[in-house]
Amino acid sequence: MTALDVIVIGAGVAGVSAAIEAAGRGARVAVVDAAPGVGGTASGAGGGTCIAGTPLQARLGIEDSVDLALEDWLRWGGDTVDVEWAERYLRAGVPLFFDRLGEAGVRWISVHPHEGNRVPRWHRPDGGGLGVMALLEARARALPGIDWRLGHRVRELVTAGGRITGVRAAHGERDVELSAAAVVVASGGFNNSSELVAEHAGPAAGAERILLGGGRGARGEGHRMLQRVGAQFTQLDAVWMYPYATPDYRHEAEGRGLAIRGVEGEIWVNDQGARFHDESLRGGATGTAALLAQPNGRGWSVLDARIASRMVIADPDYTRGNDPIRARVEEFLRDSPYVVSGATPTELAARMGVDPVQLRAAIADMNAAIDAGLDRDPEHGKPLAGLPRLDEAPFTAVRLHPMARKNLGGVRTDLDGRVLDPDDRPIPGLYAAGEVAGMAGGRINGAAALEGTAFGPSLFSGIVAGRTVSD
Ligand SMILES: Cc1cc2nc3c(=O)[nH]c(=O)nc-3n(C[C@H](O)[C@H](O)[C@H](O)COP(=O)(O)OP(=O)(O)OC[C@H]3O[C@@H](n4cnc5c(N)ncnc54)[C@H](O)[C@@H]3O)c2cc1C
Repeated sequence: MTALDVIVIGAGVAGVSAAIEAAGRGARVAVVDAAPGVGGTASGAGGGTCIAGTPLQARLGIEDSVDLALEDWLRWGGDTVDVEWAERYLRAGVPLFFDRLGEAGVRWISVHPHEGNRVPRWHRPDGGGLGVMALLEARARALPGIDWRLGHRVRELVTAGGRITGVRAAHGERDVELSAAAVVVASGGFNNSSELVAEHAGPAAGAERILLGGGRGARGEGHRMLQRVGAQFTQLDAVWMYPYATPDYRHEAEGRGLAIRGVEGEIWVNDQGARFHDESLRGGATGTAALLAQPNGRGWSVLDARIASRMVIADPDYTRGNDPIRARVEEFLRDSPYVVSGATPTELAARMGVDPVQLRAAIADMNAAIDAGLDRDPEHGKPLAGLPRLDEAPFTAVRLHPMARKNLGGVRTDLDGRVLDPDDRPIPGLYAAGEVAGMAGGRINGAAALEGTAFGPSLFSGIVAGRTVSD
C-alpha cells in the first residue's frame, strides 16, 4: 500500500477543495466517500455564493465592499459569529471565486438580493453547484497523487500515541484501514439524520415536526466520530431551517421535505386560518421564526389555481435541469395527503380543518389591498406590486413544516483547520472543514446566515485545511 500523507473524509466541496490544495502541493491524498460519486451536497444545490466587491457587481452598478458585507454579516449572525473566519472568508472572495475558480472555468452569471444584505451579493454560478463541482472534480482528477476511495464508508478514526493516524472504513463486505499523517474530516452536516435533527434542533424549535432537507450524505457520521475522539463542538442547535417545505409524501419514511417555490401571491395561514406573516420574507431568520411561533410550529400555504399552475418543487424528482416537470407537480397537487383543495374558500377551510371566517377574511383582505392598489398589505406589510388576486378556483392549501437545511454550528477548529479539544488544544493529526465545522471554524455564520454563506465558506475552509496539512 502506498504511504499516504492525508486522508480526506468526504468528496463534497470542502473535501475536494482540501484534496486539490494538498495534492497540488505534492501531498499523497486519499479521498474517501461513502457515496459512489464525487460532489456531495453541492451537486444538488444552488451553489449561490455571498461575495462582496466583485467585478460582476461593479458591471451592474452595485457598490459593495468587504467592510460593508462584514457589517451585514455581523449584524445578521449576532454575537456568536466567528469574526476572524468571516473576515478572512470575505477578503478571500474576489481572488478565490473570480480569479482562481474563474481559471478553473467557473462563471458567475447573476447577482441577487437576499434578506440581511444591504446590496445584492448572492452570486449564481453557471450550472449551479453541480456545475462548479464538475469543474472542481475535473481539476482534482487531473492532479497526480489522489487515490479516490468512493463507496467507502468511514466508521471510525484510528488513534495511536495520542494522535489520529488513520481511518477504518467499510467497502461493501470488506473492512479497509488507511493510515496517514493527517485526517481531514469534511463529512458535511447532519440534516439528513432524523435522530440528530430531533436531538439538536427539536428542543430549540419546539415544532411538532421538522422535515429533513440536508444533502443525502449529511447524516452526521463525521460528528459522531469526532465526538468519540474528544473534539469540541459549538452551536449544534443552530440548525438553519426554511419555512416553505411540505412532506415528501412519496418517500414518507425518509422524513424529507419538498421545497415549494414559484408561488408568489400565496398567503400563509396557521391552524386557525389566520394570516401570520409577510410571505415575501422567507428566510431562516424571518419566515421560519414566524412559522415556529404558530400553534404546533406549522402552517398552510394557500393558493388559487393561477398561482398553483406556476408552482415549482425544488427537488430532482420534480425538475429537469432548472425546468419544472409539470405533470409531476400536478400529480403532487392531486395525490399528496398534505394538499387539500376546494371550490370556494369556505370549502377549502372545511378540508383544512380551520375556521372558515378567518380564512375567508384572510383571502378577502389580501384581494381588497391589491384592488386598492396599495404598495403593501396593511396587516403584515407584504409588498404587493405585481401580485395576483387570489380568486381563481379551485383553491388549494399545502401543509408547511420547517425544513432543516444547513448546520450553522459544528466542530471547533483553529484558523488553520486543526480540530480543537474542549481546552482549545489541537488534537494532533485531526483537521476539519466544511459544514461539519459549521462551514468554517465551528460557526462562521453565528446564529443566522446570510444566504450563500455555506457553499463558499465550505470551499474556503477546505482550501485552508488542505494547505495546513501539506505545509
Ligand atoms: C438543496 C440544497 C441547496 C443548497 N443551496 C445552497 C446555496 O445556494 N448556497 C450555499 O451557500 N449553500 C447551499 N446549500 C448548502 C451547501 O451546499 C452545503 O453546506 C455544502 O455543500 C456542504 O459541503 P461539505 O463539503 O461540507 O459537505 P457535503 O457536500 O455534504 O459532503 C460531505 C460528503 O461526506 C460524505 N460522508 C459523510 N459521512 C461519511 C462517512 N462516514 N464516510 C465516508 N464519507 C462520508 C458524504 O457522502 C458527502 O459526499 C444547499 C444545501 C442543500 C441541501
